[in-house]
Amino acid sequence: MNIATPISAKNKPGHNSVGHTVCPHDCPSACALDVDLTEDGRIGRVRGSADNTYTAGVICAKVARYSERIYHPGRLMVPQRRKGEKGEGNWQELSWEAALDEIANAFVKAQASHGSEAIWPYFYAGTMGQVQRDSIERLRHAKKYSGFMGTICTNMAWTGYVMGTGALRGPDPREMAKSDCVVIWGTNAVATQVNVMTHAVKARKDRGAKLVVIDIYDNPTMKQADVKLVLRPGTDAALACAVMHIAFRDGYADRAYMAKYADDPAGLEAHLKPARRNGPPPSPAFRSTRSKLSESSSGTRKRPSSASATAFPASVTARPRCTRPFRSRPCSAPGNMKAAAPSTTTVRSSA
Ligand code: SF4
Repeated sequence: MNIATPISAKNKPGHNSVGHTVCPHDCPSACALDVDLTEDGRIGRVRGSADNTYTAGVICAKVARYSERIYHPGRLMVPQRRKGEKGEGNWQELSWEAALDEIANAFVKAQASHGSEAIWPYFYAGTMGQVQRDSIERLRHAKKYSGFMGTICTNMAWTGYVMGTGALRGPDPREMAKSDCVVIWGTNAVATQVNVMTHAVKARKDRGAKLVVIDIYDNPTMKQADVKLVLRPGTDAALACAVMHIAFRDGYADRAYMAKYADDPAGLEAHLKPARRNGPPPSPAFRSTRSKLSESSSGTRKRPSSASATAFPASVTARPRCTRPFRSRPCSAPGNMKAAAPSTTTVRSSA
């Protein structure tokens, strides 16, 4: 764990002090942490910072018990070289100097034989934190190693997100607490993004917000939902089209907002219509997807008894539509965090 300064000055001499840092995990929450530091230089309890308005004093169970991992007697502390074939389980310890020399020599050899671009710095986040994880870029640039993206797991998601929204960013997640309807779609936030639940549950407590959870299995987050939708894998897009269609048809779409910030709202509306009214009859593939969805909603598959895969409850749909142009300024602008017209926040897994 990369314990950072400053150490809290309010601690008296002779007592444990508190270090302030950020969680190093590859997790969208990036929680601010308060870490107890003992006099012998070890870490003690790890807590979520109450001063950080997103962390709001809450962190996940695995990081709250970080000290157990760091000081676990079974933790791997020295490099090991495989002896024999893969899978045999034979390892030989070597010093850090020897391990680094071995790796550096392999790089030099590969570069000499095939050119510098033969070496591809493949990394991403893991538990390296924002600062450490990108420090290898200096090596990449100095040695002219391959410029291919350092990961193959986010390329598709990022590309799709940018194509859909125009930029790799979203609304300030704290806006969930100011929403009247929070949609958690495709992520089990109870286990993987505890802070989402903090703000979603706050919205429910303070404003009576509805919590809608959508996934392909009955996950633990659904236990806390007002509306639970269990979809067949691969039918998310059909549901998204259906929701957009209803929004256009029943007047919930914020046309003024779309006219200002979207590039082709009229095209989208037209795209969602033809198969139903003006266009040719639905294709066999479309009919098949539709029947699978209705099969899902009629309870053929295991799903929560209170679920409704076809409509939001009247208490949700009867609300007036949002007219607040909340993206007219940066999401972090203070004015965007105040209570305003009813709004909906959708949370998706980020990677
Ligand atoms: S939820 Fe857990 S893993 Fe994620 S940033 Fe917070 S403490 Fe780290």
